[in-house]
Amino acid sequence: MTDADLLRTLGVDASQLDPAPPWVPRAGAERLDGRHPCVRCGKPASVTGIVDAPGYGRRWLDRCMPCLLATTPRGKPREPLADTVAVLREAAQEVGVDLTIVADES
Ligand SMILES: [Zn+2]
Repeated sequence: MTDADLLRTLGVDASQLDPAPPWVPRAGAERLDGRHPCVRCGKPASVTGIVDAPGYGRRWLDRCMPCLLATTPRGKPREPLADTVAVLREAAQEVGVDLTIVADES
């Protein structure tokens, strides 16, 4: 997800975000003092980051933890092991290869 996609998902107008400085170590720690509201729900932000907003440059994106978790894309769900094994068996049969599968489901 690009920064533009993230801002669109959050419904945030980039012009309303505070300009952020060029990269500096530990940038943002001072913003988490409870004075900056979450862009999504308005509660005090507990997480901040910098996005590159198209047309606006680097901007602070302040969120609370629940909104961060609610708007963070999850990775592709893992295929169940049984489905993966079935695909491997089918492929082995197609090419006439004996197949032994050893799996650790932990
Ligand atoms: Zn929030």
